[in-house]
Amino acid sequence: MEEPILRIEHLSHRYNIQWAVRDISFEIPKRGIYGLLGSNGAGKSTTMNIISGVIKQTEGSVFIKGIDARKRPVDAKRHIGFLPQKPPLYGDLTVEEFLYYSARLRWVPANMLKSAVEDVLVRCGIAHFRKRLIKNLSGGYQQRVGIAQAIIHKPEIVIFDEPTNGLDPNQIMEVRHLIKDIAQERTIILSTHILTEVQATCDNIMMIEQGKLVFMGTVDEFDNYIAPNTIYLRMGNPPTVEELAKVENVQGVEDLGDRKFRVRFENAQEAMDSIVKQSVVHDWHLSEIRVEKTSLDKIFSELSKKIQ
Ligand code: ADP
Repeated sequence: MEEPILRIEHLSHRYNIQWAVRDISFEIPKRGIYGLLGSNGAGKSTTMNIISGVIKQTEGSVFIKGIDARKRPVDAKRHIGFLPQKPPLYGDLTVEEFLYYSARLRWVPANMLKSAVEDVLVRCGIAHFRKRLIKNLSGGYQQRVGIAQAIIHKPEIVIFDEPTNGLDPNQIMEVRHLIKDIAQERTIILSTHILTEVQATCDNIMMIEQGKLVFMGTVDEFDNYIAPNTIYLRMGNPPTVEELAKVENVQGVEDLGDRKFRVRFENAQEAMDSIVKQSVVHDWHLSEIRVEKTSLDKIFSELSKKIQ
């Protein structure tokens, strides 16, 4: 059987006495863009630092293309490119000098150095700045240089820690575009605490909260998984919240004021049927009823709250 690109088994990490990652297991079987989602302090950076070999885990294993990263760290790292939250750039080097340096650090063979550097200069749209000192580039271009150094050795997995953090909207669009382009040939894992970032860029979500993996699946599955869609109601002569909550198939009621309510349910159609029937029986003067689809951002913030 072919080994998955990445396999994480019972990964845990502790800083002093505090556990930052608790028993995380997952597999990445095929290429794609995987979003590591979680609020600040959830354990994303710790997880990515371990996968990249920057820190050693307290417990558990990381296999990169079947290679145990703890036992064969150098072999494992050949398959990994990493852009930490703060790009590891040297301001006093030119873009080109820095990329040659990065390529050597990443074991690119001497006879391949030139083509590796040229390739990323073009791919990341920084060829025209090759002679410029890195410290004189804008934040967006510095980020491109950071991405270039992460892919210079053609790794199978490229890990980006909050890649669009601190960029302006145009730069964000450009970096997303570049990431999607890189994903044609490699597996991307990117971390973010912003759900819209995952929606805009990723095919899959891994959600971490308080050091635990709470969800892994596609963006659509994430929506369905939590799916706390609600029914919005408006009535001319409404019952009390308690009465409404007693209606069959209704699981919870929120009073929105001004004779409007939001109702939770398990099955939308059944809940609406029951409400409509009861409205007729009790003369509630139902004037509006519709299913509201909860935005992923709302789901995310609610889920984060629930876990804390
Ligand atoms: P995220 O990237 O999701 O914001 P982190 O992995 O940075 O989360 O942090 C997870 C937890 O570990 C947090 O509670 C954080 O304070 C703690 N932590 C992170 N790095 C260190 C460190 N070097 N020493 C001690 N605690 C740390």
